[in-house]
Amino acid sequence: MRLSSMFVPTRKEDPAEAEVVSHQLLVRGGYIRMLARGIYDFLPLGWRSVRKIEQIVREEMDRAGAQEVHMPAVQPAELWQESGRWVEYGAELLRFRDRKGAEFCMGPTHEEVVTDMIRGDVKSYKQLPLNLYQIQTKFRDETRPRFGLMRGREFVMKDAYSFDVDEAGALKSYDTMFDAYHRIFQRLGFEYRAVEADTGNIGGSRSHEFQVLAETGEDEIVSCTECGYAANVEKAEIRVEIAEAGEPSGSELATLRTPKARTIEEVSNYLKRGPELIVKTLVYMADETPVMVLMRGDHQVNEIKLKAYLNGELQREVQDLRLASDSEVEEITKAPVGFAGPVGVEGVEIFADLAVEPMVDFIVGANLKDKHHVNVNHGRDFEVKAFVDLRQAGAGDICGRCGGVLEAHRGIEVGHVFFLGDKYSRAMNANVLDEAGEHKPMQMGCYGIGVTRILAAVIEQNHDENGIIWPMAIAPYQVVICPLHLKNELVVSESERIYSELKAAGIEVMLDDRDLRAGNKFKDADLIGIPVRITLGGRGVENGEVELKLRSEDEQTLVALGDIVDRVK
Ligand code: ATP
Ligand code: MG
Ligand code: MG
Ligand code: MG
Repeated sequence: MRLSSMFVPTRKEDPAEAEVVSHQLLVRGGYIRMLARGIYDFLPLGWRSVRKIEQIVREEMDRAGAQEVHMPAVQPAELWQESGRWVEYGAELLRFRDRKGAEFCMGPTHEEVVTDMIRGDVKSYKQLPLNLYQIQTKFRDETRPRFGLMRGREFVMKDAYSFDVDEAGALKSYDTMFDAYHRIFQRLGFEYRAVEADTGNIGGSRSHEFQVLAETGEDEIVSCTECGYAANVEKAEIRVEIAEAGEPSGSELATLRTPKARTIEEVSNYLKRGPELIVKTLVYMADETPVMVLMRGDHQVNEIKLKAYLNGELQREVQDLRLASDSEVEEITKAPVGFAGPVGVEGVEIFADLAVEPMVDFIVGANLKDKHHVNVNHGRDFEVKAFVDLRQAGAGDICGRCGGVLEAHRGIEVGHVFFLGDKYSRAMNANVLDEAGEHKPMQMGCYGIGVTRILAAVIEQNHDENGIIWPMAIAPYQVVICPLHLKNELVVSESERIYSELKAAGIEVMLDDRDLRAGNKFKDADLIGIPVRITLGGRGVENGEVELKLRSEDEQTLVALGDIVDRVK
């Protein structure tokens, strides 16, 4: 395409609101324009790159056996009421009414719609597995839309949904998507990590995020230098080991990190010197023995879960814990509280995800009448090996898996895979007959990729002070031809020849035929970030030469006029 007739409105100044480089360069390079907060126009260059990202995603989804569909952006409230999310989802869901007063929302995600789409027609295990995906505009009324395309309100997402007859099948579908995601992010040339992740308000249990490493990322992730364990800090398991009772020094945090594992008793003694005790949580162990976790101070508990081990093997993980009522608390604290656990359980790990630093007083005790394990001795019957909690992990923390040391990075979440189980299929009656002839809710997974966020993430990882440096795979054009002296007929005719020969070879070429100074053309070419630049100057062309320069390199080389097309092809 000839630049003189294209809509590529480059600018000299960064927009005032642009805090990150991708936002600055996308606006200055004439890729996007803001229409309203978090809502953007994609100009011709921007949309070409978006479509290239989509194409890579599409090819890998198709290769993995998923089928493309297209679902509506506008969704009826009834479906969200059926799943329970009309209330749960909160203010991010943009709701409105039609002329008849019926309630709708703009889809932030499509679990309800896709489940509804298939439930009338998929009735037998023979029709499964099934994986359906779309590349579509989503709307989330984000509290803080910012960083341009990184956190928009309207954005393009690829969302896929898998349906299986049982959990084993669903986990296989999950793994297939996990592998496809690796292929996608490798093709996009990212430096990234797949990390264990929280499941947020989509629900489900197994989940990984794909995080592009960048200083400007809004997520924090940790990875273990020894075992490779990697997780979002929202989820990361670290070992919090407790200092000698009797020597608390410096901040609690520093003390809690000293590398010496202690028993519950010692932790409890150590922590007893702090503020008042408040009982927060009642947890149930493997055999339903009530176990109490006392927490000190005024904590907001987000999540607490408990794992019971026998001979090093995880026996049970208890997650659906509830807060103790006041009367229970009273009864518990009056009761003779001893350490308790089912006999034979060799260790418990208590995971506490607290909104504040966990000053947790772990007094684990059976308390209800007839449920009390008598004669269970801590140390003899069970022992707490280590405490693992979910407080914000950071560099230098101890890996919850292997005891190695964690390193920390900032990340941009570009993809997310979830195993959902039957959360939606059960609520929405999406059942199939299994092989034994039984009706069962389908087992689902959902898999998102932030297509427009990727455009920004690529720039965060590929730019210099002059502009964008596109990887070839998603550059809007691969080559830009810059004829410098438009009055020189040979320059013009050779530029035209190279332009048409490259186009004929299937290469995407921009011809900068604007009557501008060399400096301005180079500035724009660098800003826009086209990977290959061919420059034709009057003297060079008369000597039979053109300049070839890669955007990613400083050096340029001289190439014979007759060779340039073959060199670039
Ligand atoms: P975040 O934690 O950044 O808010 P999310 O976990 O809410 O993202 P998912 O529900 O997992 O997002 O959606 C799938 C993908 O959609 C994300 O991995 C991300 O790449 C993309 N995405 C989510 N929210 C936005 C947004 N506001 N703007 C652009 N892309 C987004
Ligand atoms: Mg979000
Ligand atoms: Mg997230
Ligand atoms: Mg996510």
